[in-house]
Amino acid sequence: MNTSQRPAGRHFLQIPGPSAVPDRILRAIDQQVIDHRGPEFGALGREVLAGVKEVFQTVHPVIIYPASGTGAWEAALVNTLCAGDAVLMVETGHFAALWHKMALKLGLKPEFLGGDWSRGIDANEIEARLTADTKHVIKAVCVVHNETSSGVTSNVVAVRRVMDKLKHPALLMVDTISSLGSIDYRHDEWGVDVTIGGSQKGMMLPPGLSFNALSPKALLLSKTATLPRAYWAWDDMLEANKTGYFPFTPATNLLYGLREAIKMLREEGLANVFARHDRHAEATRRAVRAWGLEILCANPAEYSSVVTAVVLPAGHDADRLRDIILSHFNMSLGMGLAKLKGKVFRIGHLGDFNDLTLMAALSGVEMGLELAGVPHKKGGVDAAIQYLAECAKSKTVAKIAA
Ligand SMILES: *Cc1c(COP(=O)(O)O)cnc(C)c1O
Repeated sequence: MNTSQRPAGRHFLQIPGPSAVPDRILRAIDQQVIDHRGPEFGALGREVLAGVKEVFQTVHPVIIYPASGTGAWEAALVNTLCAGDAVLMVETGHFAALWHKMALKLGLKPEFLGGDWSRGIDANEIEARLTADTKHVIKAVCVVHNETSSGVTSNVVAVRRVMDKLKHPALLMVDTISSLGSIDYRHDEWGVDVTIGGSQKGMMLPPGLSFNALSPKALLLSKTATLPRAYWAWDDMLEANKTGYFPFTPATNLLYGLREAIKMLREEGLANVFARHDRHAEATRRAVRAWGLEILCANPAEYSSVVTAVVLPAGHDADRLRDIILSHFNMSLGMGLAKLKGKVFRIGHLGDFNDLTLMAALSGVEMGLELAGVPHKKGGVDAAIQYLAECAKSKTVAKIAA
């Protein structure tokens, strides 16, 4: 194929974030920058700071950083903890491992419960560890809600339940960078102290914004926490945010986009957004099973609704398959990260995504499997079609009945 040739049609960005940005958001961002100290900005700031709370399902403050998700990870730790504090983390996959590494670099003492990257958090294991911590040395439990590297979603409620049962005072911090706005998540109801979110996955925005949703307890502890912080300091942010402003130059145009994203989520309704992601994930799994390939996530109760990691048969390179699909069909699929490199590819089915987008993506995968000579059975695309048609039919019936 001539690589300099213009690929016709749109690129299929089927990685699990960044996800393709909808036209409405692109248009919202495509506006002149305004004075971030002027009255027009104050109104924008107040609107997005209030609106984003709906997405976290919280009434408490949400901080918006002009940073990728990694920055918001750091902000969560440095605002609430002291040097040498013990924190409990769980190795659900690559992102949990990166957060653990960050905790080490910041001078914390993270304890890392090992995992094989195919399962989520075992609340019993957390319970055993916290039960042994009778002196309450552990100051925070830090978990990843949706492990983007493996396509595994952990049960955050079960972790909270264990902490409540033991009356353990540690903070609960949750990374929702790839689940926010795509998988049901309730900051207040689930008793989370700091939720970390990002803009470029379920929120449908370009990369560049990230979030900390706070609890009153996290806010209180931030007054006495002593890890050094300046740019990430919550107190300066919250003070400026009271009137809709920021202590430094905000990412104004991304905030135009955020305002539009919140509107879009509201118009569809969060419950419908979550159901749509569940449906597309199920259709994807049906395709994978029909192909005779393995889904990395070992526990069906933990299947991710935003990304499916597919294991290639031994001796077949997932990156070669991805290259073939990219060059022939102009579609990017997620690569296997770290120890999964070459072993899995990941299909992102998140953000502004519908049945036909999914069908195109799955067709690209099925054609790619054929071209790459990966042993598989036919009929994955058909299995997904059948499932989506059934879902549409039952929706139509429900509408007629109503
Ligand atoms: C993408 C991702 C991150 C990293 O976020 P960046 O925006 O790349 O800094 C962290 N955790 C999870 C679960 C992610 O999916």
